[in-house]
Amino acid sequence: MNLILLGAPGAGKGTQAELLMQKLAIPSISTGNMLREAMRNGTALGKQVKQYMDEGLLVPDELILGIVVERVAAPDCKNGFILDGVPRTLNQAEALEAKGVKIDHVVSIEIDDAVIEGRMTGRRACTACGATYHIVANPPKAEGVCDLCGGELTIRKDDAPETVRKRLEVYHASTEILKDFYAKMGKLRLIEGNQSIESANEDILAAIGAQV
Ligand code: ADP
Ligand code: ADP
Ligand code: ZN
Repeated sequence: MNLILLGAPGAGKGTQAELLMQKLAIPSISTGNMLREAMRNGTALGKQVKQYMDEGLLVPDELILGIVVERVAAPDCKNGFILDGVPRTLNQAEALEAKGVKIDHVVSIEIDDAVIEGRMTGRRACTACGATYHIVANPPKAEGVCDLCGGELTIRKDDAPETVRKRLEVYHASTEILKDFYAKMGKLRLIEGNQSIESANEDILAAIGAQV
């Protein structure tokens, strides 16, 4: 089961990827988390991507494709994987096809821009494992501490309202057209994002025909 999660920033991709990973027992691959980890570790990749990420712009396709193609070839992906936040441009989607990365379903989590600001101001992310929480909709058991790994929860720098607006613009300009690309291939599944986390997850499992 090879899945792509599409959707605007704040649509709930990371949250749903986490649940799907547990229920389907396949890894979630978040390019955002991989890039943030590279920045934290001060690697060459981390240095190359920092400015783009801080400004809410897309990182160049070549950098993304390199890390994704390598990651999906790892042994733990042999029964499937969940791509969270990638592809994000037509060029990335076409390159994944060209490199033989097979995709079964593309789930687009649909949400109005108006809902997003509240989600982002309340988002807290684990600096260690990347898991995301929301101070109201999905709080951690202990304030500031990740339920999964005990890591510290912080506010992402790019969740500042001006940067969120920029990221939404980028989504509408460069990523949204991927829905047409995958619809033509018969792979697109639309999911209502403006409902509870659990209900959205049930809809996704039904849309991909998963038995859990
Ligand atoms: P969100 O889940 O809120 O949309 P992500 O963690 O997926 O945010 O992405 C954060 C930032 O990382 C993006 O604004 C962009 O700079 C960079 N990024 C992540 N994935 C990609 C990608 N596939 N292509 C280009 N840039 C990416
Ligand atoms: P994305 O990865 O698409 O940027 P996240 O999964 O990080 O989105 O979700 C953004 C924020 O909204 C997080 O704080 C998350 O806890 C919260 N959230 C996710 N899904 C829902 C939902 N269905 N209802 C309310 N809040 C949600
Ligand atoms: Zn954690």
